[in-house]
Amino acid sequence: MSIEFDDDFSERIVTTSQTSEDSGEPSLRPKTMTEYIGQAKAKENLAVFIEAARRRGEPLDHVLLYGPPGLGKTTLAGIIANEMGVNIRVTSGPAIEKAGDLAALLTNLSENDILFIDEIHRLDRSVEEILYPAMEDYALDIIIGKGPSARSIRLDLPKFTLIGATTRAGQMTSPLRDRFGVMLRLELYSPEELQQIVARSAEILQVKAEPEGTYEIARRSRGTPRIANRMLRRVRDFAEVRFDGVITREAADIALRALEIDELGLDSVDRRMLRSIMTAFDGGPVGLDTLAATIGEEAVTLEDVYEPYLMQIGFLNRTPRGRCVTALAYEHLDINPDISKMPEQFRLDGI
Ligand code: ADP
Repeated sequence: MSIEFDDDFSERIVTTSQTSEDSGEPSLRPKTMTEYIGQAKAKENLAVFIEAARRRGEPLDHVLLYGPPGLGKTTLAGIIANEMGVNIRVTSGPAIEKAGDLAALLTNLSENDILFIDEIHRLDRSVEEILYPAMEDYALDIIIGKGPSARSIRLDLPKFTLIGATTRAGQMTSPLRDRFGVMLRLELYSPEELQQIVARSAEILQVKAEPEGTYEIARRSRGTPRIANRMLRRVRDFAEVRFDGVITREAADIALRALEIDELGLDSVDRRMLRSIMTAFDGGPVGLDTLAATIGEEAVTLEDVYEPYLMQIGFLNRTPRGRCVTALAYEHLDINPDISKMPEQFRLDGI
């Protein structure tokens, strides 16, 4: 089995996209279903589909994995290839610029291979149209010649499985979405699941970690394994210099505080975003674009990276009229809300 990854890099501790820091060390990426922690529902469904496809000797149906970044979509695609015993080619929506690029990828696949397209919602429309017959009939329609003498010929492709990953299934066109036989939503992880992930990673990196230390990292990593692993590396540095190399609860706490990550895992952008809704917009509702402009971040980043966790911990609500903060968020930031302006449903007794 061969895996090729096209990575994109950017630098922040809570960023959920891959950074240069994530490479160059022993791989923390699980390779088997058993090593893949959490996501019980998705794993259960996949196990059945994989087994059925294997028994029939056919490729797996096309799979769409969706959910916030860093939750394990790419990892899961690699595991599916592993379990099916087939090759996987990894690419991403923005990397496929022309219809010809995709045609080249498809014609180079072998029978039952997996093509993984990350950020599939960002595929160019002309590229996407090549995918329809490829997914449905394992065929490629190509036009030869120009003008009145142009004709279309159909090339047969090997039977393959497309695994698409997206942070925003809602932005995909319905003809593309409808061609996936299996749609699996990945959920944010519980602190207990993340603790297992951190403990496993610590073992691979050969760092000593106490359970209280791994739990402290887990509960502050916003439900996201990629962030948990990144925090582990930073905490390891602190532990090596100041705590005899052992990750204790105190080592984790001091390291994360130094990185301005608070006890719930919120970083400076989260706090700025919440504070801005509270002070500039009276707690909301405020439209996403206005909010993004106010705090100088991109709207997609707020929506994909920051909002899922803030909503999960009950700090933020999306309403048809915009984003609103909740009383819990006021309490956490120790800001006194002007109750008279808060919508009824977001109030908490005692505040
Ligand atoms: P996505 O494709 O959803 O952005 P990735 O698959 O690249 O996320 O996962 C990011 C990192 O998090 C991986 O390198 C892996 O180390 C870790 N990871 C993700 N999911 C799991 C899991 N279920 N169990 C253990 N580690 C995981």
